[in-house]
Amino acid sequence: MKITDHIKNANGKTLFSLEVVPPQKGIGIEDLYKNIDPLMEFKPPFIDVTTSREEYIYLDKGNGLMERRITRMRPGTLGICAAIQHKYNVDTVPHVLCGGFSQEETEYLLVDCMYLGIDNVMALRGDAMKGEQHFVPTVGGHRNAMDLVHQMNDLGRGKYLHDEKISAEENKFCIGVAGYPEKHIEAPSINYDLKWLKQKVDAGADYIVTQMFFDNKKFIDFVKQAREIEINVPIIPGIKPIATKGHLQMLPKVFKIDLPEDLISEVEKAKDNTAVKQIGIEWAIAQCRELMDFGAPVLHFYSMGKSDNIKKIAKEIF
Ligand code: FAD
Repeated sequence: MKITDHIKNANGKTLFSLEVVPPQKGIGIEDLYKNIDPLMEFKPPFIDVTTSREEYIYLDKGNGLMERRITRMRPGTLGICAAIQHKYNVDTVPHVLCGGFSQEETEYLLVDCMYLGIDNVMALRGDAMKGEQHFVPTVGGHRNAMDLVHQMNDLGRGKYLHDEKISAEENKFCIGVAGYPEKHIEAPSINYDLKWLKQKVDAGADYIVTQMFFDNKKFIDFVKQAREIEINVPIIPGIKPIATKGHLQMLPKVFKIDLPEDLISEVEKAKDNTAVKQIGIEWAIAQCRELMDFGAPVLHFYSMGKSDNIKKIAKEIF
C-alpha cells in the first residue's frame, strides 16, 4: 500500500516508522531482525531500507602498484526489502540512488520493485564518493534526485526509458524524497534548497522525509516555509535519539546537522554512555510529543542498528 494511503487511513493519528541499514556484505540478517522485532508492536506501516553509495577500495598488487576498484559495503537493499516484507507483512521502502547507477540499472531495479509488490520508493541523489569534492554523476545516471523522480514517475505510469508515451494515468509508485530542515549542505540558502525541493514535488514526489534534527523549531519553520511555496505533500520528520558521547562529533560530521547547545552540555556532563542514552531518550520523547501536537503524520526513526532506545521512546508516546 502507498505511504500516502497509510497516512490518509490514519485520519490524523501520528504513525510510527523506521529506517534500517542493510548488514555489511550480506552477513547478519538475523541481527537485523533482532533490531526490528521489538519495534513491531508499534505497528510500523512501512520500513525504509537504505542503499549504500559505492566506495573505492585499493588492492595491493604486490608489485608496488595499487589497483583501484569500486565496491559496495552494504549491498542487497531490494533483497532485504523483500525479506522484511515477507517476514513481517509490512510495506518496505527501498532507497534508490542516482550515484552508482545508470538509468537502465535503475529501470531494472524499479521493475523488480513492481514484481515484489513494492509500492513505495525513495528517490535520493547520494553523496560524493569518498575522496571526491563534489557529487559526480555516474555514466548514464542521473544528476540529481529530481531527474530520478521523473524516471520513477514515468515508469510507474508505464513509460519505460526510450518509450514515447505513458500508458496509465495513475502512478504505481508512491515516491518519497529527502528534505533538510537545516538546508542541504551544498545549498547556499534554505530558500534555494526549498526551491529544488518544490521541483522534486512538482516532478511527482508524493511525500518528504526529513534529515534528522534535534531542534523542533527548525522542522516547524521548514514546514511553514514549504507550505508558503505550495509544497503540499506530507512532510515526515526524521528522529534520531542520541546514544553515545561519540554522536556529538559523528552526527554533525556525517549528516551535516547542528546539535543544540543544551543537548551538547547535558551529554558532555553525563558520566557514561548509559546516562547519555537516557538523555537521548528523554530529548527524543520531548521532541516527538511536540511534533505530534504540531500534526506530524509519521515519526520516522533512524535506527542505525539499535532499537532498545527507540522502543523506550515509542512506549512513551504511542
Ligand atoms: P537532491 O535533491 O538532488 O539535492 C542535492 C543538492 O542539489 C541540494 O543542495 C539541492 O538544493 C540541489 N539541487 C537539487 N535539485 C537540483 C537541480 N535540479 N539543479 C540544481 N541543484 C539542485 N544517502 C545514501 O547514500 N543512501 C541512503 O539510503 C540515504 N537515505 C537518505 C534518507 C533521507 C531521509 C535523507 C534526508 C538523506 C538520505 N541520504 C542517503 C543522503 C542523501 O543522499 C544526501 O543528503 C545527498 O547529498 C543529497 O540527496 P538528495 O536526494 O537530497 O539530493
